[in-house]
Amino acid sequence: MSARGNSVVIVGGGATGLSSGWWLAQAGVDVTVIDKGIVGWEASGRNGGGCSHHFSPLFAEEQRLWPMLDALLGYPTEFQPHRIRVAFDEAQFNLYATAMRNAARQGFASEILGGTDIRRLVPLAGADAFGGYLYKFGGHANPHRTVQAYGWALQDHGGLLMQHCAVQGFEQAGGRVTGVRTDRGLIGCDHLVLAAGPQTRYLAAQLGIDVPMVAARAEMIVTEPLPLMPLGGVDGNGLYGRQTLRGNLAYGGGPHEWVEVIGNTVPPRASTPLMQVIAGRLARLFPRAAHARVIRSWAGIIENTPDGRPVIDRIGNVTLATLSSIGFGLSPASGRAIAELVQHGACGFADLSSLRLERFAKLEQDWIELQGWQVAAGAGSV
Ligand SMILES: Cc1cc2nc3c(=O)[nH]c(=O)nc-3n(C[C@H](O)[C@H](O)[C@H](O)COP(=O)(O)OP(=O)(O)OC[C@H]3O[C@@H](n4cnc5c(N)ncnc54)[C@H](O)[C@@H]3O)c2cc1C
Repeated sequence: MSARGNSVVIVGGGATGLSSGWWLAQAGVDVTVIDKGIVGWEASGRNGGGCSHHFSPLFAEEQRLWPMLDALLGYPTEFQPHRIRVAFDEAQFNLYATAMRNAARQGFASEILGGTDIRRLVPLAGADAFGGYLYKFGGHANPHRTVQAYGWALQDHGGLLMQHCAVQGFEQAGGRVTGVRTDRGLIGCDHLVLAAGPQTRYLAAQLGIDVPMVAARAEMIVTEPLPLMPLGGVDGNGLYGRQTLRGNLAYGGGPHEWVEVIGNTVPPRASTPLMQVIAGRLARLFPRAAHARVIRSWAGIIENTPDGRPVIDRIGNVTLATLSSIGFGLSPASGRAIAELVQHGACGFADLSSLRLERFAKLEQDWIELQGWQVAAGAGSV
């Protein structure tokens, strides 16, 4: 599939669906991205902006694409390269070495930092920083800017974006999906991409495809602006996030709360206890910013597969794409991979065999209980 006239419908205007649509539109494919809300309204606009997934088969492509993404899209993502991780004791220091070793095997360098190096490179850090790493890979970008950039670039190449359009079901004939039923009517398609975040499971179930997933609620806080550090991508103390170009500290972290996602969700709001936990940890990561006021907060829903890896797989004329909590950073590469699966039936630049759905064929019936991921009593649904 490479010429106009073959229509691809993508359900989900998050980073995954938008990037896939952009790559397809660039290739001249007639593509429509549908979202029940606005672009990036769910996890893709609510995340930490990290782009450092050294354990993924898409890592090399993720790293190749981010530094050139603004030029490729024609719009800013505010991508900033590299990352520092701060350890507070020897055990954490040893644990974080895994990223250094894993990336080194793939040709990416890191520097080991002592406490003094950390205080020099991270002026907001304090006396109890034990040491850490400067990873010369990965980095971070602005999630809102990035989803906007994908959305505009997709349309610049002739792709169609339908916002405020909820997908309700599918039409099938001869073992193929032939159309997508929405609250604005039926949209015919030759190929369907399901990139609906946590809702991918419920939509795929309508096609008889079981995608084992559980959703988790997570929160982020944003402080008032602080003087810019030399490198905005600093994490540690169980937190992920970044310093924005304006100087705000935008950070999130566990505990993640397991929740049931039903149908067309409304994203949940932040809760005071979890915000306080994150703010407390942030004050330890950056003691010199402990006085800063929290000016914004939000909650988001993270999609999780049993092994924490994405599912990117093509079954007939349906491509499944659920990114299992690492979908923002991987989006330039996952979108390209999905576009290749749709057009050619295979991805030419990375081995996606570990991301196939069939790896869960022998999953235990009670895998959620075995993982300890049950929805807590009273947690409700979103
Ligand atoms: C607080 C938080 C921090 C995170 N930090 C990071 C990070 O630092 N780095 C990283 O890489 N990842 C991070 N993640 C995970 C990352 O955000 C997700 O993996 C990624 O955004 C998934 O993108 P997606 O496009 O696949 O799904 P989503 O962003 O969930 O988008 C799915 C879209 O599908 C739409 N949709 C669903 N059902 C329907 C329907 N029936 N009809 C029409 N549209 C529908 C939704 O409205 C939504 O916009 C974080 C997530 C959260 C919540």
